Amino acid sequence: MKINSRSDLDFMERIQQEVTAHRGASRSDETYYAAKLAEVWHRAEQTPAYASLGTFSPRALLDLRATSKDDLKARPLDFLRVPVDAGLKYYQTTGTTGLPTPTPRTAQDMIANTVSVAEAWRPLLADGGHRALILLPSDIVPVADLMVGVCEFLGVPHVKAYPYTTGISDWDRIIGLWEVFRPTVLFVAPGVLLEFSQVIKRRGLLDRLRPSVELLMLLGEVSTPELRAMAGQWWNARAYDASYGSTESGTLAACCAQDRLHLLRGANYFEIADGDGIVPADPGREGRLVVTPLNNDARPLLRLDMGDEVSLTDGCPCGATAPVVTVHGRGSDGTEIKGSRVRTRDLEGIVYANSDVMGYLIEVDQDGTWARLLLERDPGTDREAEPAKNALVQRHTDERLGFRWDEVRFVNRLPVTTKSGGSQKSWKRSNFRVVDEVVPA
Ligand SMILES: [Zn+2]
Repeated sequence: MKINSRSDLDFMERIQQEVTAHRGASRSDETYYAAKLAEVWHRAEQTPAYASLGTFSPRALLDLRATSKDDLKARPLDFLRVPVDAGLKYYQTTGTTGLPTPTPRTAQDMIANTVSVAEAWRPLLADGGHRALILLPSDIVPVADLMVGVCEFLGVPHVKAYPYTTGISDWDRIIGLWEVFRPTVLFVAPGVLLEFSQVIKRRGLLDRLRPSVELLMLLGEVSTPELRAMAGQWWNARAYDASYGSTESGTLAACCAQDRLHLLRGANYFEIADGDGIVPADPGREGRLVVTPLNNDARPLLRLDMGDEVSLTDGCPCGATAPVVTVHGRGSDGTEIKGSRVRTRDLEGIVYANSDVMGYLIEVDQDGTWARLLLERDPGTDREAEPAKNALVQRHTDERLGFRWDEVRFVNRLPVTTKSGGSQKSWKRSNFRVVDEVVPA
């Protein structure tokens, strides 16, 4: 995290004070939000997308229609206050549409997001004598830099390795590094964790590498509770769904020690879009999350409709009063398999439920009438048990998703694209294969 001036330092301290003071509900919030929203409104006025805003008032915000993600993705440059070559950092998202969104970030963007996330994770990471290995698939998206910034801010020794940079940090190199550095925390994309776990299980190294590991912080893509339970069991570590957000919005929620995602209220103004319009983000509400990030500088956004269906609750056993958000995904999410709409999280809930599958690939025919599920076997498991596992997967698919696979089969290895995680956010690209000719089982 770059700080090379007194004004950056003052800004960092101001954000730190804001995010800690406004993390839970408090009486001073209304004044706080009014002031912060006026600032972001003023920055937004400087972009083509929000050029005709008019004067800010809390009422004017309530009258403003939401900004859709589709609109943002269709004309990303119109939302920039800072030209692409004038931010301190330049990133690109890998959107599900395949079109990258240009994402410059100023020093203030970086400082604010880093401090907001770091303060949320302070109870988990600071003072624990931790050492972090940042094992993420790409550096063109901002998440690895963000984790570096969080570690720097909290004083956690860290190293980053991008395991898909062929010939540089391949698995051998990472294993060598591991034995010297002995990481206690892994910041890792779920797909990368599956691939790495598979590699070291195959080599019989899991018992040797796992003793130092205490926390698995999964991020960069969706991870299901079943996948986290499975990975946590392999590694004998606590596995967390570390954060929720997007490259466009910045980080919106961060996990607590109870593996629940708390809204980052000090850095964002949250609302919920439901049948009644856009309403305050109070616990008990369900609908689409609408966010106005309070510190976005290069790309200020007002009432961004995240498109994700969420529900908000309170009373987390960790004691934090910020609402807990459960993200259900997009209403339009999912891919049709044999006439049923299937979402990643629902299928992975079935596939990973028994903690013995290293990955999966769905094969479908051109017409969508035939579908086979290939499961990558855990190298250490008993093959005799596989027919019973297949039958269980069939039964759960039938009960929960409303169809049966034409075949469920265990294989030794799946294409590495099924693990490439954050660099291939599109489920259709990473975990589906259309086959021309169906080979009968
Ligand atoms: Zn909590």
